[in-house]
Amino acid sequence: MIHQHPPGTGWIEVICGPMFSGKTEELIRRIHRARYARQKVQIFKPAIDVRYDQTKVVSHNGREIPSSTIDQAAEIFDLLDPESRVVAIDEAQFLDTDTVRVARVLAGEGRRVIVAGLDQDYRGQPFETMMLMMVEAEYVTKNMAICLVCGAPAHRNQRLIEASGRVILGSEAEYEARCRRCFKPLKAEEDLLFEA
Ligand code: ADP
Ligand code: MG
Ligand code: ZN
Repeated sequence: MIHQHPPGTGWIEVICGPMFSGKTEELIRRIHRARYARQKVQIFKPAIDVRYDQTKVVSHNGREIPSSTIDQAAEIFDLLDPESRVVAIDEAQFLDTDTVRVARVLAGEGRRVIVAGLDQDYRGQPFETMMLMMVEAEYVTKNMAICLVCGAPAHRNQRLIEASGRVILGSEAEYEARCRRCFKPLKAEEDLLFEA
């Protein structure tokens, strides 16, 4: 729940969780509500995420909203409209950790910053940018999807294809949501903890 802040105060909201947990849906919902309040909103996403569209943020159930594409978080400063009250970033796990500094500056200027992204990769390892952002943020929402094996709430991403490499873009064919019990990491990665 977002509380009432004194005018001119900025803050950071994180929306995290696995794939299919409704992060983008929730981001779009918050943006629509800000627009009803007649607040100028800007939405950014990393260029790497071209799954549905170059210039739109699209949820798995087909909701969409126009966005600007960036390679690095600092580009937000170049594209920023000084009038923007709300700055939203989707798929922030694919952006550099400098995103945290950028969000801090924007919030320091009195803007509301909403950052959505995966908190963990297909091995259950934290994505650094989201991990750091959760510490920096005033509000953290952690969504869960539904485990496709047993129907329990799911907080992990099970990769379904044989591939190594942290970033393999994909959707239902490549990943599914799994709960702790049904998640099966690769053997060698089972005991791996965060490597800084
Ligand atoms: P995210 O941005 O977290 O990947 P989206 O907001 O794009 O999620 O999509 C959420 C939608 O995905 C849900 O409303 C539902 O329609 C769909 N969906 C597909 N698979 C699942 C699943 N395993 N659990 C929950 N929702 C799912
Ligand atoms: Mg999404
Ligand atoms: Zn399960």
